[in-house]
Amino acid sequence: MAEKFIDAMIESGLDYDDMIRVIKLAKQRFHEMKNNIPIQVPGKAVMVLPKKRFSKSGKYRLAQENSAFVFPKLCPYCNGDLKYSINSMIMDDNGLWMAEDIESDCSNCPEWDDPKFHQWIEAHSQMPYVIQLPVDMAVQKWINERFRFIDR
Ligand SMILES: [Zn+2]
Repeated sequence: MAEKFIDAMIESGLDYDDMIRVIKLAKQRFHEMKNNIPIQVPGKAVMVLPKKRFSKSGKYRLAQENSAFVFPKLCPYCNGDLKYSINSMIMDDNGLWMAEDIESDCSNCPEWDDPKFHQWIEAHSQMPYVIQLPVDMAVQKWINERFRFIDR
């Protein structure tokens, strides 16, 4: 089921509406498992970025490689904000750097020594390939469709 879900996502287009659709699906999956969790449609992506710069073609916005992408209420487990950062990059056909691997931080994650940490980890570790991965993949596509990265 997970593969089918991810394939369907890969075949889909690359715009924000599609990403929202994928995320809604992921949230529904989780909701089915834990029907006491309220579901909300995520808001628009908020980007914490330096001033606007664009690639020569004008197709991509250029951002520093340490840029953070904050998506309000995107966490499929708890509706927290997800802050994405770039783990590694790969060069595209035009010699520009795109995200190869991204990583998210949930805004509701307690400090590691907080008693609630264990509970949080447990809740956020359920079926990650079905629930978290599609969200991450959709975000990565969304980023790479719009951004290329520079080191300064
Ligand atoms: Zn969360």
